[in-house]
Amino acid sequence: MDEAVVGSEWVSRFRRAVRRWYARAGRDLPWIGERDPYRVWVREIMLQQTTVKAVVPFLERFFDRFPRIEELAAADEQDVLRAWEGLGYYSRARNLQAAAKKIVGEWDGIWPTGVVELESLPGVGRYTAGAIVSFAFDKPGPIVEANTARLYSRLMAMTLSPAVSAGRKRLWALAERIVPKKRPGEFNQALIDLGATVCISEPRCEECPVRMSCRALERGEVARIPVKTARAAPTDLHELVLVVRREDAVFLVQHPAGERWGGLWGFPRLQRDTGVKMDTPESQSVVDAVSLLGWDVEFRGWFKAFRHSVTRFRLHLQPVDLLWSDGEWNGTSSGEWVSINDVDTRPMSVAERRVATELAEVSK
Ligand code: SF4
Repeated sequence: MDEAVVGSEWVSRFRRAVRRWYARAGRDLPWIGERDPYRVWVREIMLQQTTVKAVVPFLERFFDRFPRIEELAAADEQDVLRAWEGLGYYSRARNLQAAAKKIVGEWDGIWPTGVVELESLPGVGRYTAGAIVSFAFDKPGPIVEANTARLYSRLMAMTLSPAVSAGRKRLWALAERIVPKKRPGEFNQALIDLGATVCISEPRCEECPVRMSCRALERGEVARIPVKTARAAPTDLHELVLVVRREDAVFLVQHPAGERWGGLWGFPRLQRDTGVKMDTPESQSVVDAVSLLGWDVEFRGWFKAFRHSVTRFRLHLQPVDLLWSDGEWNGTSSGEWVSINDVDTRPMSVAERRVATELAEVSK
C-alpha cells in the first residue's frame, strides 16, 4: 500500500470531505437509520444481486412473511424460496435460513458484534459482516462492494483489477485504513453513496468531494481504472421446456439440490442435443424424446421462445405445449401433477415462472 495515499493526514482530510458531502448530498434511502441486525443483514444480501430501487418491494414482501429472525429460522424452506422468488441466486436464500437457524438455535438469538464471528455464518462474507457491524452496531467494520471498489481503485490509481486477489487485498487494506471509529455506519453509507452517484462508470469528477485526494484524476487515468479483466463468454445452452398438461393439471418437477435452480419447482427440460429438431414445428421428434421419459403425449404447439441468462450460461428456452395421453413419469427428478391454479404457490425461477404465467393465461 502506498503510504502517500494513506498517510494519516490524507485519511483525516478524506473523511472530512466525505462526511461533509454526505450531509449535503447523501441518498435518501428508506433504510437510513435502520439498526436491527436482522433487517440490515437481509437487505445487504438482497442488494448483492439487485438495485436499490428494485430491492424495496422484495424487502417488504420478505419482512411481511418473516418479520423476525425466529420466523425465518422456523419456516419451511419452500416458503423461504417463494419469498425470494425473482431475486435469483437461491443458494443465498438457503444460506440466510441456515444462518438464521444457527443464530436462533445455537446462539439463543443473540447476534455477535464482531466481523470474525459473523463471517462464520453461512453466506456471510467479509463485506456483509462489515456492513452488519457498522450499520447495526456502529462498530468500525470496513467494507468493499462494487461501488466502493470502483472508488478506492481510482483513489489509489490501482493498476490491478479488483477482481484479482492482489487487487482485492489492496482494496481491503484501504477500507481498513479509512473506516473511522466515530459513526462508521454513516461513513460507510457515505462511501457507498459516493461510489453509486459520483464515482460512477463515467465519473462526475468535477463535483467530487474527494477530487483533491484522487490519484487517478491527478494522473489522468480515470477512464482506465478500475482495470477490467476479460470476462469469459457465456456458454449457450438450448433447452426444451416441457409443459405437459393432463385435464386441469400440469406436471412439475422439483429440481434436485446441487443442480441449476435446485429445490425450486419447474418443468421438465430437455437439452437440444437429445435430437429434437427445434426448427420443425409439430416435430415428431419432440414426442419421441418425451416418450423416453415414460409418457405418450400429443404435440399441441409452441409457447414463445426466450433467452435467459443465469450465472455463466445463456439459456435459449423453447417451451412446448404437450397433452399427456398415457404413461408414468420416469425422469430422474421427482415430480407431480399440480393443479394449474396452484402452480403459483410453488417457488420457481424467474424463467420458469414466465412459462407458468403464459400457461395460466392460455388455460383461463
Ligand atoms: Fe472518482 Fe473522479 Fe472522484 Fe476520483 S475524482 S474519486 S475518479 S469521481
